[in-house]
Amino acid sequence: MANTPAGRLYVVATPIGNLADLSPRARAMLESCTLIAAEDTRHTGAMLRHFGISRPLVALHDHNEQQRAPELVRELSRGAQIALVSDAGTPAISDPGYDLVCAAAAAGIEILAIPGPCAAVAALSIAALPTDRFCFEGFLPARGAARRARLEALRDEARTLVFYESPHRVEEMLEDCSEALGAERAAAAAREITKLHETVYRGTLGALAVRARGDPDFRRGEIVVVVAGAAPAPATGAADVLDRLLGILMAELPLKQAARLAARIAGARDNEVYKRALKLKPQD
Ligand code: SAM
Repeated sequence: MANTPAGRLYVVATPIGNLADLSPRARAMLESCTLIAAEDTRHTGAMLRHFGISRPLVALHDHNEQQRAPELVRELSRGAQIALVSDAGTPAISDPGYDLVCAAAAAGIEILAIPGPCAAVAALSIAALPTDRFCFEGFLPARGAARRARLEALRDEARTLVFYESPHRVEEMLEDCSEALGAERAAAAAREITKLHETVYRGTLGALAVRARGDPDFRRGEIVVVVAGAAPAPATGAADVLDRLLGILMAELPLKQAARLAARIAGARDNEVYKRALKLKPQD
């Protein structure tokens, strides 16, 4: 009896807007696999038709992934070559796929990446913000209080932050970011990447929030928000210098303005310098 070929799971990235971004290797895999597990079979079906590809499709989305993953693992154990795709970009990145990848790994199935587009990495690469260390935060909670709590927890994160957001929430999301992380924090919003209306807005969080409120285009299409990490806290030895600086500035300027200026000169966090300034303020 001929040996059954080993089943493999291929995690295949697909375009995030421009169909020319489907890699030749991804295309070849979609053409040759036994089965395509897709987040939305109609959406993927349309892409496959565009490329003249016809393969069996099964749905694998957030609501059925846990049940479907074991069935697909059984197919893989029998030698199936399964391609996993989502509607756009890289599967399992704020998209279905994680449960299937875990189930396949637990069953000892070989899992191979066919890498390609990912909106988070694409936005980071054009944001003009530090790329050496970054944190992918996916979607913030949709509800205001939970979103603000999450942002508070991220306030001192020094790595660049990358968020996905829906266009109808981006205005309030930027307002909350500006409030929690500081209006002066550098940020960028990349919308419609690889599409006709691709635009990158760069500026401070405060300025981006104002832009989002006033410019309806800002709130159209898909968007990734990239935010600079927190400035490092001043070294202990620098605390005396900061206090002296604050003393000089507070003698000439209102407390808030003095604190903001001192934070900028010292490269320190606005809110920490402000707290320091409150302590130094002469009591009436
Ligand atoms: N797995 C996908 C990836 O690898 O990019 C992400 C899927 S997630 C459900 C969808 C979010 O990705 C959108 O809400 C938006 O934040 C971002 N996104 C996807 N395509 C985009 C594009 N062309 N331009 C900007 N953001 C995009």
